[in-house]
Amino acid sequence: MKKHWYDYLWIFSAVYLLLGFFNILFAWIGLLCFFIPLIISIAGGGKGYCNRYCGRGQLFSLLGGRFGLSRKKDPPKFLRSKWFRYGFLLFFFTMFFQMLWNTWLVFEEVHGLRQIVTVLWTFKLPWHWAYHGTAVAPWAAQFAFGFYSVMLTSTILGMITMVLFKPRSWCVYCPMGTMTQLICKAKSGRDVSVSQTQGQNIGRI
Ligand code: SF4
Repeated sequence: MKKHWYDYLWIFSAVYLLLGFFNILFAWIGLLCFFIPLIISIAGGGKGYCNRYCGRGQLFSLLGGRFGLSRKKDPPKFLRSKWFRYGFLLFFFTMFFQMLWNTWLVFEEVHGLRQIVTVLWTFKLPWHWAYHGTAVAPWAAQFAFGFYSVMLTSTILGMITMVLFKPRSWCVYCPMGTMTQLICKAKSGRDVSVSQTQGQNIGRI
């Protein structure tokens, strides 16, 4: 099958994660993965981002599929259920707004910059080596630490579900996937079921 440029976007995802170990400010680039899927869906492109351009989904396919790092078992039913997907989306947004709030507190100089990366919303890892001074305002650096925490946490969760279940099982409850699914549903006025959209991602391998 002929390869397209977008089939290699997994490289972008891998490099993005690596760059965060060297300079945390690169975390800002991750906003592209946040806005592009929404823009594509709102513009009528449906699940085009998930199906073509998502480097993270490709990375899971590659590691779990070609590199055999997945048990390739069906994910449990609860993972596909609406309450879990919407519940996780809500939880994700709560954590996201908490991160924005922390950024605001640094902007307002209520407290200083915290050079940590929080993994799985719990484990605070020192990450000072990836911040090199005063090139940007402290709030911009705080946002980078927070956003990288979000990206790293979701990647770790995705890796765990990749190993335990099918390579792209993360796609079943990925907040971006759930949001684009909701947009598709709102635009078409009918239910775009998980088996038609996110579900098809895990069925590829
Ligand atoms: S569901 Fe999430 S990880 Fe999966 S392809 Fe879509 S945006 Fe990427």
